[in-house]
Amino acid sequence: MEYPVSLPVQPTAAAAAAECGCAYSPPQLMHDPLTGLYNKHGFVTRGNQILRLMAARDRQAILIYLELSEYDGLISRLGYDASLVLLSAMRRRMEIVFGREALLARFDSERFAALLPDGQAGIEDTIRALEAPLHIDGTTCHLSLSCGVATFNDAGYNMDMLIIAARSARQDAQRAQRQIGWYADGMRQRLARQRSIEDGLWFARNGAGLSLVYQPKIDIRAGKVIGVEALLRWHHPELGAVSPAEFIPLAERTRAILPIGEWLLREALHQKCAWRQGGQDIRMSINVSPLQLGAQMQGPTVLDIMTEECRRLGLRHDKLEIEITEGLLSNAEVMAQVREIAGAGFGIAVDDFGREHSALSLLVNCPATTLKIDKSFVDDVVENDRQLAVVHFIVALARRLGMETVVEGIEHLQQLVALADAGCDYGQGYFYYRPLSASQIMELRHSH
Ligand code: C2E
Ligand code: MG
Ligand code: MG
Repeated sequence: MEYPVSLPVQPTAAAAAAECGCAYSPPQLMHDPLTGLYNKHGFVTRGNQILRLMAARDRQAILIYLELSEYDGLISRLGYDASLVLLSAMRRRMEIVFGREALLARFDSERFAALLPDGQAGIEDTIRALEAPLHIDGTTCHLSLSCGVATFNDAGYNMDMLIIAARSARQDAQRAQRQIGWYADGMRQRLARQRSIEDGLWFARNGAGLSLVYQPKIDIRAGKVIGVEALLRWHHPELGAVSPAEFIPLAERTRAILPIGEWLLREALHQKCAWRQGGQDIRMSINVSPLQLGAQMQGPTVLDIMTEECRRLGLRHDKLEIEITEGLLSNAEVMAQVREIAGAGFGIAVDDFGREHSALSLLVNCPATTLKIDKSFVDDVVENDRQLAVVHFIVALARRLGMETVVEGIEHLQQLVALADAGCDYGQGYFYYRPLSASQIMELRHSH
């Protein structure tokens, strides 16, 4: 039975309607036509009434947000009619496992939610019951759900906040490859920080607050600086210094990395030119994000920017290198661009090699000239003989493939000795130098 509700009129929509002289009518539909469950609007409206009642009675509510994995694939395999069977089965299952007191909704395609009174234990069992295989027209469908859970004490006293909290908890869990995520205490602060970083990145598009530092790369045998890696730094207007390890993934998510990446390529090449004018022709490596090498990129490509700036500034291509991460080796579109960059005479380094799942077969046709051995191999190279054996193997492999090796993150002399013994060509790390400013690099080269 439907409760009579007076729908809240959104001031902005109502004001806009008044301005253009038309009557504003708030959405009337409360239910999803396919399942008969509440739709998002109905769920929020009805849920807010329930939350008020529960708060008055000092009871807790818990919101579970659910997404069916691989839904599109399932539907394209099963067809439209079968998808209706699947959705109504989901409704029946949700009614059974969540019980009569629950408020249930389907937001759109594969997204569902349930608002439950407190004391609902055993979410894991509930999810397992919802995922039980389903037989449709002689086909067995294996369902898989991912879910986020938030209670209204954590997330505030309205449905919008609760839904955002449960959705964020699900995303967090998914990133950590867990099935169920709980909205945790620290998450609200973390989300606020993330939002602040994402907003700040908008203003950093043309370089505001951004700068570059340069970490020397050393020839291990000769003990000489042979080049630098450009590393991005960012001063956020309120948060202060934010590490690239934190803001680059967010810049990638919001695509702000595209203008930022373009700014930094031009800035780095200008710096290289300034050093050369000061008498130091220093080799430089620049990190490039996967998005900058994507096929659907609009605007100038990495290769366009590098060739244009090199021509304008009179820089040689062979003194410049881009760093890509090993995950990109399996991406054919990106590798097509990387091959063009290599074909134009720029160096290519595979960064963080060995950090994730390096498929050695991908090195066979790889245009890289340098393999950067990840810091994780260096950390216990002294204590762990097996780790050292792997480094020996990577160095031998790189050599056979005509690549040079750079070891990242050398912090102690003993590590350096072991790595030199393994035949690594170059090293980077706090043992030698932390990232330095452009003028410090100039002084360093003068003193060498
Ligand atoms: P990366 O490219 O692997 O850079 C190496 C990181 O390790 C740098 O951190 C560097 O400061 C740090 N490092 C170097 N030696 C040592 C050491 O001995 N010990 C320890 N503990 N750390 C060391 P940073 O500058 O914070 O950069 C982190 C990551 O952020 C970089 O990893 C890279 O993936 C990304 N990044 C940095 N600058 C850029 C950029 O300009 N563009 C893009 N797309 N990514 C960047
Ligand atoms: Mg790098
Ligand atoms: Mg690295």
